[in-house]
Amino acid sequence: MIETSDIFKRISHQKGKREIAYFTMEVALEDDIPSFSGGLGVLAGDTLRSAADLGIPMVGMTLLQQYGYFHQGLNEEGQQIETEVRWNPETKLKQLPNYVELKIENRVVEVKVWEYDIIGKFGYVVPVYFLDVNVEGNDERDRELNKHLYGGGDYIRLCQEIILGIGGVRMLRDLGYRDIRSYHLNEGHASLLTLELIRESGYSSHEKIQKACVFTTHTPVPAGHDVFDFEMVRNVLSPVYIDYLKEILEGEHPVNLTTISLKLSRFINGVSVKHAEVSRNMFRRPEIHAVTNGIHSATWVAPSFKKLFDQYLPGWDVDPSHFSRAVFISDQEIWKAHIAAKGRLMQLIQEQTGVVMDLNKLTIGFARRAAAYKRADLVFSDLDRLAGLAGEKIQIVFAGKAHPKDEEGKSVIRSVFEAKKKLKGQIEIAYLENYGMHLGRALTSGVDVWLNNPQRPREASGTSGMKSAHNGVMNFSVLDGWWIEGCVEGLTGWAIGPEPTEDNLTDYDEGLDYESLYSKLEKVIIPMYYEDRENWIRMMKSTIALNAPYFNTHRMIKEYAVRAYKVSPLFQ
Ligand SMILES: *Cc1c(COP(=O)(O)O)cnc(C)c1O
Repeated sequence: MIETSDIFKRISHQKGKREIAYFTMEVALEDDIPSFSGGLGVLAGDTLRSAADLGIPMVGMTLLQQYGYFHQGLNEEGQQIETEVRWNPETKLKQLPNYVELKIENRVVEVKVWEYDIIGKFGYVVPVYFLDVNVEGNDERDRELNKHLYGGGDYIRLCQEIILGIGGVRMLRDLGYRDIRSYHLNEGHASLLTLELIRESGYSSHEKIQKACVFTTHTPVPAGHDVFDFEMVRNVLSPVYIDYLKEILEGEHPVNLTTISLKLSRFINGVSVKHAEVSRNMFRRPEIHAVTNGIHSATWVAPSFKKLFDQYLPGWDVDPSHFSRAVFISDQEIWKAHIAAKGRLMQLIQEQTGVVMDLNKLTIGFARRAAAYKRADLVFSDLDRLAGLAGEKIQIVFAGKAHPKDEEGKSVIRSVFEAKKKLKGQIEIAYLENYGMHLGRALTSGVDVWLNNPQRPREASGTSGMKSAHNGVMNFSVLDGWWIEGCVEGLTGWAIGPEPTEDNLTDYDEGLDYESLYSKLEKVIIPMYYEDRENWIRMMKSTIALNAPYFNTHRMIKEYAVRAYKVSPLFQ
């Protein structure tokens, strides 16, 4: 430990020495900085936290959202009620004196910047910069461009991406960063930064820009990528970039930001082994690598487990490989830590929904964005059968927001509420409002089993199951994303449905998943929980020991440092 802090003393804290700029449209730093909508933002926050802990010479660049991603309320039918989240950046961020200019539709737009410092375990600081166009003197239309994350419609979205990409590079220069060797594009949203790099280098070759960029794609379906009409881009973007944009697109017409990122990056990766494979096929790019996502362990471990890990696995929050020794933790103590986390969750459920849950009952958790492909209601496919096999034996807790424009997602929430009514007296169900980091922590640590059943192969990685695994909560999940790598049947959890292969990846009958879900619940999970607690606890320990050492952002960022950035003081 002392040696590690010595290394940190030698790392220069000077800003000029930073070598990696991590560009992301959303980032989850705290619940009270509402500048994220889901997994992408949580991953960005965890990545930057690990960079700070490990002294990776990185800065973050993002866009300030004047209003947070909405607050979710739910009425008795499960209708989502959206209210605007107002917040005052001054309470959490420090405004800097720097300003840069850019052009939108030939109007000059001034961009200001706020700073948030992530202070790592040994005091190393990773600054995160929030760009903001709500500047006096800007056109009123422009002042509202960063009102909401991902805005409303293509025009605002494109403008936000111009501010992040082009404004971000200009701001880095204004802040004094001259030695950035890697620009990490976290998803295609940041891809316009490449245009500014081309411009500022005196219109140098693509190869030179390519050497500077690293691109992580997160979206395994074609519809998930930003595509803009060329004429709109021509009208909105400053004319100085248009010829270069045309050259990059080589006659391709709609402007696809993923295409730009793919063409101008030296290292491209998907976020799990399966997702990289799907991306290689989708983009016809055999060189796409896999860097499997992780979570920042110390952020997602419940207080009772923190205490336990400090006692049994000192150093776990510096080097998560210590988790492999979780098998040596005593059965009683791990159960005690679990019951503490479970009790906290039950209390929270009661306070928020009035539902009283039973501390001794097998509790299943499901929380994620309420998008249709995540199928929150799959477990309710056959209510009679579910009541027959699990009545009075399980309770289920849900959380998750549907995007305000996602009607399908909203109807999934309503169908959970319908099931809740129909199963009353047999299976207790709660749906917690306003899923965020705080709830995420309480849920992933406080249930007994973490359920996930997306349509394959739509879960690029998924990270909430990694949070649960860190807290000794077994995953019960469709084999997709990270779980293909993390599932050891009977040791870290259980698979739903078959292993994906070339043959069944696309033409597999997704309807069959609930068959698998029901039969394992009935024959394996419920009996083990009630009749073989010793084996259950053994499984909790092997879940931590096999999943947590690998599925964390400390390991992940070391992989990026070695394979993509090719820099890190820790490896020199
Ligand atoms: C971890 C987390 C996510 C991502 O979870 P997935 O499993 O990838 O869906 C989304 N939102 C919040 C608040 C989280 O904590």
